[in-house]
Amino acid sequence: MAYDDNNIFAKILRGEIPCKKLYEDKYVLAFPDIAPKAPVHILVIPKGKYANVVDFGANATPDEITGFWRAVSKIAADNGVAGSGFRTIANTGLNGGQEVPHFHVHILGGKSIGSIVSA
Ligand code: 5GP
Repeated sequence: MAYDDNNIFAKILRGEIPCKKLYEDKYVLAFPDIAPKAPVHILVIPKGKYANVVDFGANATPDEITGFWRAVSKIAADNGVAGSGFRTIANTGLNGGQEVPHFHVHILGGKSIGSIVSA
């Protein structure tokens, strides 16, 4: 899938659309989801241009991949859900229900998220 520079998260990364920055480093930006589905609902996005988890896994550098997942761990801990538990979701493509074509992980917690989403 070709990367679309006009997607919303690309605009957030370029500062064209505001977000409430929760964490930022060389590799990632994290901010609350605009339509939270749980008391804690954070989006973590890589700074690199990757359309989805397949693109990220295939084409990101080892440093980008390590940096991304270390940040996810830190953000979960810093936002108080590492101990109580949480769900990470990476929706992918049409059948995965992906709305924004820039790879991102949802961190959902702060309450019981329940069983896996219905198939
Ligand atoms: P997806 O379905 O692609 O996995 O999830 C995209 C998420 O981005 C949705 O949960 C949606 O609420 C969120 N979102 C869409 N536009 C914006 C925005 O402009 N700002 C923020 N913070 N979240 C957004």
